[in-house]
Amino acid sequence: MVKRAGTFIETARKEMANPLSQAFLSVLPPGFAVMKQLSMSSFPDPAAAIELSKAIRQETLTRLPELLEEFEENALSNGARVFWAGDSAAANEYILNLCREKGAAFVTKGKSMITEETGLNSALEEGGIEVFETDLGEFITQQMGRPPFHIVGPAINIPAAEISEIFLEKGIISEPSNDAVALGKSVRAYLRDRFKSVKVGITGINMAVSSSGAIINVENEGNIRLTKSSPETLVAVMSIEKVVPDMNDALHILRILCRHCVGQKISGYVTIDTGPAKQSELDGPKELHIIILDNGRSEIYRDSLTRQALKCIRCGACLNICPVYSKIGGYPYGFAYSGPMGQMLNPLFLGFHRTKDLFSACTLCGACRDACPAGIDHPGLFLYYRSLIAENADQKEKALYASAAAAMQSGLAWRLGIKTARAILNRNARDGYVSSISGIKKGWFSNRDLPEIAKKTFHELWKELNRKDT
Ligand code: SF4
Repeated sequence: MVKRAGTFIETARKEMANPLSQAFLSVLPPGFAVMKQLSMSSFPDPAAAIELSKAIRQETLTRLPELLEEFEENALSNGARVFWAGDSAAANEYILNLCREKGAAFVTKGKSMITEETGLNSALEEGGIEVFETDLGEFITQQMGRPPFHIVGPAINIPAAEISEIFLEKGIISEPSNDAVALGKSVRAYLRDRFKSVKVGITGINMAVSSSGAIINVENEGNIRLTKSSPETLVAVMSIEKVVPDMNDALHILRILCRHCVGQKISGYVTIDTGPAKQSELDGPKELHIIILDNGRSEIYRDSLTRQALKCIRCGACLNICPVYSKIGGYPYGFAYSGPMGQMLNPLFLGFHRTKDLFSACTLCGACRDACPAGIDHPGLFLYYRSLIAENADQKEKALYASAAAAMQSGLAWRLGIKTARAILNRNARDGYVSSISGIKKGWFSNRDLPEIAKKTFHELWKELNRKDT
């Protein structure tokens, strides 16, 4: 996938001015958040269920090296082949070589964030292998060359008329149509033809069970199931943190994941594979290749603070509650992961300097931390990232931070600062709000308002009260 993390501010501005994106953002994330709440209430004790999922993710992290070794051993004894990929290039090269070896002119793919992370589609296409995304939303974004808008609904913001236009252009339909169901059916028919003769299928992995070597996928459309059962060769890609100790843990995480993703108690399809198809089985791949990808995660694991990012189960609950995501949507994050999940993960994969706008955009409200069923302290991580940036700040920036710190430590400077800011801001207030201002902070107000600063600060009122009392 194209890495556009450096255009965060520019894309965010564009999305905030886009009425279509704003219309979706005003209903989509809060809708998912309500559905999550409702589905969680089906647990006899929702708080205990969350505590258990946090404990499972913590245990996984603590025992990660040992669990991975056990998983590999069991996957091999089930007949799967396991390849440890150090980075995206190694994973992509393995898959490309395998496609060539199998004489595959094209592959079908189930929705997977990990292959977005590795940029697999471009690598295969550059190598002459055509790629068909089979999740409807992913298929649409692939045709349009756009990144996903939301983890659950990658193309949910794209109007039917635009989809019809691109489908006509690509020969997927022969007549224009604004009927979403008809458009969906045309994709189904188009992909069925590919499934009939596909030689290599590619999926991600939602969970890998250490004690049995099984891999688990969840989905609602059945396209992953078709990608797994149609070809003779299946490649399943997982990052190292996808492992869980045993099936009981996997099933609990599954119940939490589906509820936190879309408010379902369970998804439409859950596929559990232990190795390639056995002789007695009617369908399933003859060869199963499992790629275990590191891609910088060992380094993330070594730092006791960043390590917690590996607990993430990609449920997307943090996106739906985040005030920043709900204003800008998924495009500005510029990489596979968006929202607080992206603000946390993208800097670890792409570097802190390149992505500093992402974690600087956070208000540190803590809503993502409260929503996270994996027990991740996102605000704590963002402060850590910011501290790393501050350490390397230039002299001008350091002087600015130093004067702000000095003002906060001196009562006199603080009171003077408040008085000056109040005079400047309130001069620009209309109906109790400051909506625009000239000068260097002009941009801050281009998409938000600030309530007028109170005529008297708490300290001034307190002083007055004390004076009256005496
Ligand atoms: S950070 Fe937490 S809430 Fe966000 S996607 Fe990951 S597990 Fe879900």
